Amino acid sequence: MNEKQLIKNLLDFIDHSPSPYHAVKNLENQLVENNFTKLDEKQHWVLNRGGRYYVIRDGSSIIFFVAGERQLSDSGYKIFGAHTDSPGLKIKPNPVINSEGLLRLGVEIYGGPILATFTDRDLSLAGRFSYKTSEQQVDSQLVQFEQPLLRLPNLAIHMNRTVNEEGLKLHKQNELALIISTAIESQLSQQYLTQLLEQTSNIKADDILSWELNVYDTQKGSFWGDKEQFYTDSQLDNLASCHIGAQALLNHSTLKSGNTTLCAFFDHEEIGSESTKGANGSFLPDILERIALALELKKEDYQRALANSFMISADMAHAYQPNFPTAYEPEHKVMVNKGPVIKTNANHRYSSECISEAMFINWCKQTNTPYQKYSHRTDIPCGSTIGPMTSAKLGIRSIDVGNPMWAMHSIRESAGVKDHLYMFNVINHFFSSD
Ligand code: ZN
Repeated sequence: MNEKQLIKNLLDFIDHSPSPYHAVKNLENQLVENNFTKLDEKQHWVLNRGGRYYVIRDGSSIIFFVAGERQLSDSGYKIFGAHTDSPGLKIKPNPVINSEGLLRLGVEIYGGPILATFTDRDLSLAGRFSYKTSEQQVDSQLVQFEQPLLRLPNLAIHMNRTVNEEGLKLHKQNELALIISTAIESQLSQQYLTQLLEQTSNIKADDILSWELNVYDTQKGSFWGDKEQFYTDSQLDNLASCHIGAQALLNHSTLKSGNTTLCAFFDHEEIGSESTKGANGSFLPDILERIALALELKKEDYQRALANSFMISADMAHAYQPNFPTAYEPEHKVMVNKGPVIKTNANHRYSSECISEAMFINWCKQTNTPYQKYSHRTDIPCGSTIGPMTSAKLGIRSIDVGNPMWAMHSIRESAGVKDHLYMFNVINHFFSSD
């Protein structure tokens, strides 16, 4: 696949993944097409060396792997980690505000989005809802409204004269509700959302019990620039990394390196990863141990496997934007289309250290891939990733890397076309390495 085809494939994945639940469902479809077998955490596992498997926890975190022919205690796990969630707006449990001639939906803020970018866009809803079945059990299904359903119109400049000097400030409680309709009869108002869900599913409104719906942008991804050397979409942070890992592992699963290779994609990174399916929960440790047990490793052999393992924690990096030079560390400007970024931080907000960094650089050199080093400004607090917490829990050597991008946490992020293939080549090499 050339670099442009790979980006088209990425944009298609993102445009069909308006929520982490949809992202995991789309990954699952691809895995099934490639003969991966689903494992259930509630069941006994029997694994074959050379087999391909996946596990989903609560619909929005997924681990998939190839059980290698090589002895796991010697080869270790080759792990690629990323996250499925993106910051944004989520619908409140009683969202309907039916007043002043308009119907609006109240929202909560999930993680740290750039709120101003949500104004004046063609927004809609996606996620999952749960319902009562005819057997009085609880089941759930995915939902996506395809049409632009919602909008957050800006205030006209005539009423906000200083917006260009002071920036657009939105009051989190009072100014984020999204317009969906003109007002309706007030006694129906809180049932409005379940009736909306009924219209797009085969489930009766009265049977719908709960939901997790996030706001998404219906605009599709696209290329831009005079030679289409850039691309843009929502959720590049971090579905772009999930896409690279999945493509590399699917590619590797057809090769015979004998390594046990694994992708772990977690929900809830944007809110600190503290959940049953988050990177700071038990999902990855549980699955690594169960793989070892199913392959009949003794405790010491499992611990040897961990000691021989390596994890690449992939999350996007901040590309240099020359209009804002003072926001960046002058000696660590990273550029789009100039290759993967290695992230380091003295306070270990990133998991990279001298040895893991050198190993990654070595893989870049072996694949003729350019690379860049990033350090945040010393006077601005640095973000973090799933890298430090997962490597700390497991004692696995790890590195934090990512592709450069602009406007992280905007609803419309952008990046460079070349970088996706560069990173794909390095990850491919990593999965096959000794
Ligand atoms: Zn991220």
